[in-house]
Amino acid sequence: MELENKVALVTGAGSGIGQAIALRLAEAGAHIIVNDLDAQSAKKTVAILNGQDACNMAIQADISDPEAVGSMVAEGVKRFKTIDILVNNAGIGGASIMVADLPPEAWDQAMAVNLKGAFNCCQAVIPLMQQCGWGKIVNIASLAASRMSKLGGADYTAAKYGLVGLSHHLAFELATHGINVNVICPGATLTPLVESKTTEGFRTEVAAQIPLNRWVTPEDIAEAALFLASDRAAMITGVVLGVDGGQLLGIASDYKEDLKRRTETSA
Ligand code: NAP
Repeated sequence: MELENKVALVTGAGSGIGQAIALRLAEAGAHIIVNDLDAQSAKKTVAILNGQDACNMAIQADISDPEAVGSMVAEGVKRFKTIDILVNNAGIGGASIMVADLPPEAWDQAMAVNLKGAFNCCQAVIPLMQQCGWGKIVNIASLAASRMSKLGGADYTAAKYGLVGLSHHLAFELATHGINVNVICPGATLTPLVESKTTEGFRTEVAAQIPLNRWVTPEDIAEAALFLASDRAAMITGVVLGVDGGQLLGIASDYKEDLKRRTETSA
């Protein structure tokens, strides 16, 4: 198995895309440290993983808190000795409101989780990877970082652009240590949470805007994450990989309708 004996920390792996990534990396032989803000959902993912007879652990931690991240990494190292793969997946969406109405606290929170959270995890894990002379960092940004978020706010978009910028610096700095750093930008991805919050009509409308004619699945993202976490991608670093079914190519956004929704949410 291509990730046999590797240890992967996946943040926000209690649900959605993070859970799918954790499952896929485990299938490829990695031991998974499943992080989530919610202890129960982290444990649930580990229960699914352990059904695959692997050796995994759940750690509750708020990635926006550097101390909590430090303790999480120390706990993981105590159990597995090192961390070879870091997937910065945890993220929060921002409301689809006008910049003029965006509460500063919402801006801070989006930055704290989506950008500083990844920074905190990188700072804590990179020394371990440097010791081994091997490491893979996969950052989950968004299609928003190629243009702007259709459903989220500027806080989300700016944080995801920031994550791409951070990844470029890390890829440059860490290449000599045998560490690859890459970004995945998911397009509209149908997680159980997205499914529970949307109508069938909306889902059909979105699918129609995607050239490959369907929503991205969490498993599509997990497949890309596995590739970037493996030595099949040994010579790939600093790359931003869109997994969006061609959504960016065929953006057929209705400007007036989008603006109306944003204005109404702001009001
Ligand atoms: P999700 O289902 O909400 O999963 C995100 C997970 O991150 C949740 O389990 C959440 O825990 C956890 N989390 C939130 N804040 C955290 C924190 N401070 N510390 C640790 N864990 C935290 O979202 P998703 O759709 O799978 O998204 C995963 C990633 O893909 C995100 O970075 C998102 O921006 C990105 N993305 C998603 C889409 C999409 O269409 N779904 C598109 C583009 C990019 P709680 O539930 O307990 O809060």
